[in-house]
Amino acid sequence: MSTHRPFEDWILDETALNPESSRLLHQHLDDCRDCRALADGWERARLTLTRSGMATPAPGLADRWLQRQALQAGSRSKGGWVVLLVSLGAALVGAGLTAWGLASLLGAPSEALQSLIRQLVTWSMWYRVSSDIVGAVSRTIPSGWVAGLGLALMIAWAGLIAVWLASLKRTAFQGVQS
Ligand SMILES: [Zn+2]
Repeated sequence: MSTHRPFEDWILDETALNPESSRLLHQHLDDCRDCRALADGWERARLTLTRSGMATPAPGLADRWLQRQALQAGSRSKGGWVVLLVSLGAALVGAGLTAWGLASLLGAPSEALQSLIRQLVTWSMWYRVSSDIVGAVSRTIPSGWVAGLGLALMIAWAGLIAVWLASLKRTAFQGVQS
Protein backbone atom coordinates (compact mmCIF):
# COMPACT_ATOMS: atom_id res chain seq x y z
CA MET A 1 0.00 0.00 0.00
CA SER A 2 2.59 2.52 1.15
CA THR A 3 4.74 1.97 -1.95
CA HIS A 4 1.91 3.49 -4.06
CA ARG A 5 1.72 6.53 -1.78
CA PRO A 6 2.85 9.50 -3.84
CA PHE A 7 1.31 8.04 -7.02
CA GLU A 8 -2.17 7.56 -5.58
CA ASP A 9 -2.18 11.20 -4.56
CA TRP A 10 -0.96 12.28 -7.97
CA ILE A 11 -3.61 10.25 -9.79
CA LEU A 12 -6.35 11.91 -7.76
CA ASP A 13 -4.74 15.35 -7.75
CA GLU A 14 -6.93 17.77 -9.62
CA THR A 15 -4.14 20.22 -10.38
CA ALA A 16 -1.59 19.63 -13.12
CA LEU A 17 1.55 17.74 -12.17
CA ASN A 18 4.99 19.09 -12.96
CA PRO A 19 6.80 17.25 -15.79
CA GLU A 20 9.03 15.27 -13.43
CA SER A 21 6.09 14.03 -11.32
CA SER A 22 4.15 13.22 -14.47
CA ARG A 23 7.07 11.18 -15.83
CA LEU A 24 7.45 9.27 -12.53
CA LEU A 25 3.71 8.64 -12.37
CA HIS A 26 3.55 7.18 -15.88
CA GLN A 27 6.59 5.05 -15.14
CA HIS A 28 4.83 3.69 -12.04
CA LEU A 29 1.55 3.14 -13.92
CA ASP A 30 3.41 0.98 -16.44
CA ASP A 31 4.54 -1.33 -13.63
CA CYS A 32 1.70 -1.17 -11.12
CA ARG A 33 -1.65 -2.79 -11.82
CA ASP A 34 -3.31 -1.41 -8.67
CA CYS A 35 -2.49 2.19 -9.52
CA ARG A 36 -3.51 1.65 -13.16
CA ALA A 37 -6.90 0.36 -11.97
CA LEU A 38 -7.23 3.38 -9.71
CA ALA A 39 -6.30 5.74 -12.55
CA ASP A 40 -8.79 4.06 -14.93
CA GLY A 41 -11.61 4.13 -12.38
CA TRP A 42 -10.95 7.74 -11.49
CA GLU A 43 -10.82 8.70 -15.18
CA ARG A 44 -14.19 6.99 -15.78
CA ALA A 45 -15.70 8.76 -12.78
CA ARG A 46 -14.45 12.11 -14.06
CA LEU A 47 -15.80 11.43 -17.56
CA THR A 48 -19.19 10.50 -16.16
CA LEU A 49 -19.31 13.70 -14.14
CA THR A 50 -18.24 15.80 -17.11
CA ARG A 51 -20.88 14.20 -19.34
CA SER A 52 -23.60 14.74 -16.75
CA GLY A 53 -22.99 18.46 -16.92
CA MET A 54 -20.55 19.21 -14.13
CA ALA A 55 -17.52 20.96 -15.62
CA THR A 56 -15.22 20.22 -12.67
CA PRO A 57 -15.56 17.75 -9.82
CA ALA A 58 -16.49 19.31 -6.49
CA PRO A 59 -13.63 19.78 -4.00
CA GLY A 60 -13.01 16.69 -1.91
CA LEU A 61 -14.68 14.45 -4.48
CA ALA A 62 -11.59 12.28 -4.77
CA ASP A 63 -11.71 11.46 -1.06
CA ARG A 64 -15.43 10.70 -1.11
CA TRP A 65 -15.04 8.58 -4.23
CA LEU A 66 -12.21 6.61 -2.60
CA GLN A 67 -14.26 6.07 0.56
CA ARG A 68 -17.19 4.82 -1.49
CA GLN A 69 -14.94 2.49 -3.46
CA ALA A 70 -13.62 1.07 -0.19
CA LEU A 71 -17.15 0.61 1.17
CA GLN A 72 -18.44 -1.02 -1.97
CA ALA A 73 -15.40 -3.22 -2.57
CA GLY A 74 -16.77 -6.58 -3.63
CA SER A 75 -20.36 -5.79 -2.70
CA ARG A 76 -23.33 -4.76 -4.81
CA SER A 77 -22.93 -1.14 -5.89
CA LYS A 78 -26.27 -0.43 -7.54
CA GLY A 79 -28.48 -1.76 -4.73
CA GLY A 80 -29.46 1.70 -3.55
CA TRP A 81 -30.64 2.78 -6.98
CA VAL A 82 -32.61 -0.42 -7.50
CA VAL A 83 -34.37 0.08 -4.16
CA LEU A 84 -35.17 3.67 -5.10
CA LEU A 85 -36.50 2.68 -8.54
CA VAL A 86 -38.57 -0.21 -7.17
CA SER A 87 -40.02 2.06 -4.48
CA LEU A 88 -40.81 4.71 -7.06
CA GLY A 89 -42.44 2.16 -9.36
CA ALA A 90 -44.55 0.72 -6.57
CA ALA A 91 -45.58 4.19 -5.45
CA LEU A 92 -46.60 5.04 -9.05
CA VAL A 93 -48.66 1.85 -9.27
CA GLY A 94 -50.29 2.80 -5.99
CA ALA A 95 -51.05 6.28 -7.29
CA GLY A 96 -52.43 4.81 -10.52
CA LEU A 97 -54.74 2.47 -8.60
CA THR A 98 -55.86 5.40 -6.45
CA ALA A 99 -56.65 7.52 -9.50
CA TRP A 100 -58.49 4.61 -11.12
CA GLY A 101 -60.56 4.03 -7.99
CA LEU A 102 -61.40 7.71 -7.73
CA ALA A 103 -62.32 7.95 -11.42
CA SER A 104 -64.66 4.96 -11.28
CA LEU A 105 -66.29 6.33 -8.13
CA LEU A 106 -66.88 9.72 -9.69
CA GLY A 107 -68.11 8.14 -12.93
CA ALA A 108 -70.87 6.16 -11.23
CA PRO A 109 -71.91 7.81 -7.94
CA SER A 110 -75.07 5.69 -7.66
CA GLU A 111 -72.97 2.54 -7.49
CA ALA A 112 -70.41 4.20 -5.26
CA LEU A 113 -71.27 2.30 -2.09
CA GLN A 114 -71.36 -1.08 -3.79
CA SER A 115 -68.13 -0.31 -5.58
CA LEU A 116 -66.57 0.86 -2.32
CA ILE A 117 -67.38 -2.42 -0.61
CA ARG A 118 -66.05 -4.37 -3.56
CA GLN A 119 -62.88 -2.28 -3.60
CA LEU A 120 -62.44 -2.60 0.13
CA VAL A 121 -62.60 -6.37 -0.20
CA THR A 122 -60.21 -6.31 -3.15
CA TRP A 123 -57.77 -3.99 -1.42
CA SER A 124 -57.71 -5.98 1.80
CA MET A 125 -57.05 -9.09 -0.27
CA TRP A 126 -54.25 -7.32 -2.14
CA TYR A 127 -52.85 -6.11 1.15
CA ARG A 128 -52.72 -9.65 2.49
CA VAL A 129 -51.17 -10.95 -0.74
CA SER A 130 -48.54 -8.20 -0.82
CA SER A 131 -47.76 -8.74 2.87
CA ASP A 132 -47.22 -12.40 2.14
CA ILE A 133 -44.97 -11.55 -0.82
CA VAL A 134 -42.92 -9.06 1.22
CA GLY A 135 -42.65 -11.60 4.03
CA ALA A 136 -41.48 -14.34 1.68
CA VAL A 137 -39.14 -12.05 -0.26
CA SER A 138 -37.61 -10.58 2.89
CA ARG A 139 -36.20 -13.98 3.74
CA THR A 140 -34.25 -14.14 0.47
CA ILE A 141 -33.17 -10.55 -0.29
CA PRO A 142 -30.93 -8.01 1.51
CA SER A 143 -32.52 -5.89 4.21
CA GLY A 144 -32.16 -2.67 2.21
CA TRP A 145 -34.65 -4.01 -0.31
CA VAL A 146 -37.15 -4.86 2.40
CA ALA A 147 -36.96 -1.30 3.71
CA GLY A 148 -37.53 0.06 0.18
CA LEU A 149 -40.44 -2.26 -0.55
CA GLY A 150 -41.96 -1.56 2.86
CA LEU A 151 -41.71 2.16 2.24
CA ALA A 152 -43.27 1.81 -1.21
CA LEU A 153 -46.16 -0.26 0.16
CA MET A 154 -46.69 2.24 2.96
CA ILE A 155 -46.79 5.14 0.49
CA ALA A 156 -49.16 3.26 -1.82
CA TRP A 157 -51.46 2.22 1.00
CA ALA A 158 -51.48 5.65 2.61
CA GLY A 159 -52.69 7.01 -0.75
CA LEU A 160 -55.32 4.30 -1.15
CA ILE A 161 -56.63 4.74 2.39
CA ALA A 162 -56.77 8.52 2.01
CA VAL A 163 -58.80 8.22 -1.20
CA TRP A 164 -61.02 5.57 0.31
CA LEU A 165 -61.79 7.78 3.31
CA ALA A 166 -62.43 10.75 1.03
CA SER A 167 -64.77 8.62 -1.11
CA LEU A 168 -66.57 7.32 1.95
CA LYS A 169 -67.14 10.85 3.22
CA ARG A 170 -68.38 11.90 -0.21
CA THR A 171 -70.76 8.94 -0.45
CA ALA A 172 -72.14 9.57 3.04
CA PHE A 173 -72.67 13.22 2.18
CA GLN A 174 -74.48 12.35 -1.07
CA GLY A 175 -76.63 9.84 0.85
CA VAL A 176 -77.78 12.57 3.21
CA GLN A 177 -78.47 14.87 0.26
CA SER A 178 -80.66 12.48 -1.76
ZN1 LIG B 1 1.12 1.54 -7.44
